[in-house]
Amino acid sequence: MNTYTIKAFGTQAPEADLKQIHIDRREATEKDVEIDILYCGVCHSDLHTARNEWHGTVYPNVPGHEIVGRVTKVGIGVTKFKVGDLAAVGCMVDSCRECEYCKEGLEQYCEKGNIQTYNGADKHLNKQTFGGYSEKIVVDEDFVLRVPGNLDLAAAAPLLCAGITTWSPLKHWKIGPGQKVGIVGIGGLGHMGVKLAKAMGAYVVVITTSPSKVEDAKRLGADAVILSKDKAQMKANANTLHFVLDCVSAQHDVNAYLKLLKTDGTLALVGAPEHPLPIAAFSLIPARKSFAGSTIGGIAETQEMLDFCGEHNITSDIELIKIQDINNAYERLLKGDVKYRFVIDMASLKA
Ligand code: NAP
Ligand code: ZN
Ligand code: ZN
Repeated sequence: MNTYTIKAFGTQAPEADLKQIHIDRREATEKDVEIDILYCGVCHSDLHTARNEWHGTVYPNVPGHEIVGRVTKVGIGVTKFKVGDLAAVGCMVDSCRECEYCKEGLEQYCEKGNIQTYNGADKHLNKQTFGGYSEKIVVDEDFVLRVPGNLDLAAAAPLLCAGITTWSPLKHWKIGPGQKVGIVGIGGLGHMGVKLAKAMGAYVVVITTSPSKVEDAKRLGADAVILSKDKAQMKANANTLHFVLDCVSAQHDVNAYLKLLKTDGTLALVGAPEHPLPIAAFSLIPARKSFAGSTIGGIAETQEMLDFCGEHNITSDIELIKIQDINNAYERLLKGDVKYRFVIDMASLKA
């Protein structure tokens, strides 16, 4: 298979900083779209993976799965994109396409495992996939998304992971008017959860550890805010929420948040901390509560979310950075010091 070499930012070991490296991309085959990457969001999963916190990272690792760019080449069999189009890529670049989940548009739950945009198994080049902290990416057109033209491109990039990861569970649990929804952890995912749940018509309650986010949460669309470190506020809000979306990246006491649910309520985890989270039997049993999980979303569902965001003019609140600032951005992410998503201006890699 023909390949060419491009610049990327990646890491060689869990403790090593990210720095400029070179990687290979395949020349676009029949169904491929080659995209010149303009912007790439910085997800906490990038940090978990770069530092091997989930214990499966193959090095070198080039993170990045919130990708927006412009099409520079298409294979002869491509029908959905042409050179010059805007295009986006999220967390997956392929799946088996044959299992019951793929056939239902649930490629994220593919029986054989979806192929992740980075640290996945690249079946073309027989090594790990490399993500969006790079000049270009080459992806089968069936896994390439369209970005609504009215959205700011940099601020739209986080929709490709933070947007779909919060949209999918909100849809699955049928969130809408008349429901009270709690969003825990107002980072990249959480702040999108607030905007999307509000746009779906729910009453939205933000649950944060950060006093500095209380006022801001209302600007994002929250109807109420609970400071989770304030035991009195947590107690006053016990048994009040129909659904809680937990977007926390670090160790935390899930039992404290399960208390906020009404009878038959569900807490869905999308945050993926490194270590297990203990759950007390009596957090669930007495009020028939459910503890659930959800990961990203299918391709058609991702397009549906992007189109909804286009119609409702929803994007992420971002801080645009140069790729050379990525290691500092990771440290700030760990401190919860970002409102609310870093996005890399990829021109800084090409300069
Ligand atoms: P992020 O921007 O770093 O946000 C995480 C937020 O969690 C922080 O802003 C903070 O919010 C809260 N938090 C941090 N430490 C906490 C603690 N000890 N106790 C309680 N709250 C704490 O991260 P992100 O990019 O949104 O990602 C969040 C998590 O989702 C990560 O684990 C990521 O890997 C995972 N993820 C999962 C999927 C999926 O498909 N399921 C997809 C993408 C990401 P406050 O300041 O408001 O407390
Ligand atoms: Zn992500
Ligand atoms: Zn499949």
